[in-house]
Amino acid sequence: MIEKMYIDGEWVLAESGETREILNPATEKVIATVTEGAEPDAFKAITAARRAFDHDGWSEVAALERARLLYAVANKLEERAEEFAELDMLDNGKPLREAQFDVSDAVGCFRYYAGIVSKPQGQTYNVPDAMQAMVVREPIGVCGQITPWNYPLLMAVWKLAPALAAGNTVVFKPSEITPLSAIKLFAIFEEVGFPKGVCNLVLGAGPTVGQTIAASHEVDKIAFTGGTVTGRKIMEAATGNLKKISLELGGKSPNIVFDDVDLETAVDWALFAIFANQGQVCSAGSRLLLQESIHDRFVELLVDRAQKIEVGPGNEPNSEMGPLISEAHMNKVLKYIQIGLAEGATLACGGKRINRKGYFVEPTIFTNTHPEMQIVQEEIFGPVLVVQKFKDEGEAVRLANNTIYGLAGAVFTKDGARAQRIIRKLRAGITWINAYHPTYNEAPWGGYKQSGIGRELGTFGYEAYTEVKQININLLDEPVGWFKRE
Ligand code: NDP
Repeated sequence: MIEKMYIDGEWVLAESGETREILNPATEKVIATVTEGAEPDAFKAITAARRAFDHDGWSEVAALERARLLYAVANKLEERAEEFAELDMLDNGKPLREAQFDVSDAVGCFRYYAGIVSKPQGQTYNVPDAMQAMVVREPIGVCGQITPWNYPLLMAVWKLAPALAAGNTVVFKPSEITPLSAIKLFAIFEEVGFPKGVCNLVLGAGPTVGQTIAASHEVDKIAFTGGTVTGRKIMEAATGNLKKISLELGGKSPNIVFDDVDLETAVDWALFAIFANQGQVCSAGSRLLLQESIHDRFVELLVDRAQKIEVGPGNEPNSEMGPLISEAHMNKVLKYIQIGLAEGATLACGGKRINRKGYFVEPTIFTNTHPEMQIVQEEIFGPVLVVQKFKDEGEAVRLANNTIYGLAGAVFTKDGARAQRIIRKLRAGITWINAYHPTYNEAPWGGYKQSGIGRELGTFGYEAYTEVKQININLLDEPVGWFKRE
């Protein structure tokens, strides 16, 4: 059976008739065959979304009706949580417990944005004239949305829920490698009754389908999560009609640990920071900055724990870390490990592909690094941690901020004032004190510097799918009197 895409309320095959096989990265076996869209399919979806927005009245549907649809999606997703978790586990390779967590977060995201539409919106102003000035928020129009493979369902929902809540129509493209949960999600959209053309799913490759969406003059906004190189291409493609852009890009985020912490606790978080989701997380704590007095002991404990991580297929109950997403990506990660060795860093543990079917790589830790090394500066996007050493607060901050990225960062210390001082100096959009990774639908997500533009989630994420309109209402019924009457 060939899985179809959803365009203008219909499940369709690509015009070209092309298909793509979807692999389970833990077994390298084909788990599904999907239709492979290209430019003509993307154009069809954009045209449908344009019509649904401009002519079919979706943007005028009462906010509470949009909320009702989103609540209905949340309920159905919750009812079928196991099915969705299993799909992401098979398609992405992540351990089942992580996939289950993603589904429950996705359900919460739909509910959050369903709730937001009925809350007070806009502002009124006191101005120097007899005029009531106010702003209202309106949908932007047709939103193109492109997501990566590391959180197939969740990344889709972070974009779809606020866009639809705000009254936009969407043309959504998942990663070509992990489209399965998105296909099922669009089936739920159909089931709950979103009107034709409001939600469109186009399957296919980035350079064709993604590029077409990003470049189209009929698309009013493009929202993208993925690598920085691709983000730059999307930004360039978007300049034709100056569409609005939101970019959630890569990172090389610092996790800073001072010598006053409980070592066991900080080691535990440091492992979670880098090895959750196999390190394929934009906000991963991929640089561990250790104060020099605890460095050796910390590394010893860390390596011991890293070597105990159970790596295996997501459906095996003991698996704590799954495979990398694809052979190509695994090779990229292994190449970075070779680069690290060539640069003279010390391999404290890991470093190899695991000798079994699937794209499994050992949890890997490098010490004795130098700030200018490629493995310190570049996003590896795998289970590879680089350790850096610092003397004092000043050096910790300098090292922490010394990359082109600014997505996330954390500090571990028992000194509350120091924690705040450090966090305020971090040039990053998502930060933690004495924790790493927990993220909430309620709070904004996004980066400084080359980690992106704009914010997703929370009220910021909703506003990013709206235009702001100023309305001025004259309270006097009389001429302005600027020009003489005779
Ligand atoms: P990409 O950033 O290239 O892919 C993300 C999405 O963008 C996919 O849907 C992809 O489509 C699409 N895309 C690719 N090229 C274009 C284009 N020219 N125009 C429009 N859309 C496009 O991720 P990769 O898989 O290539 O990974 C490369 C690196 O990016 C990783 O090694 C990692 O460092 C980083 N990355 C960061 C992520 C993050 O969350 N910050 C997530 C994923 C990757 P397609 O389906 O064809 O790939």
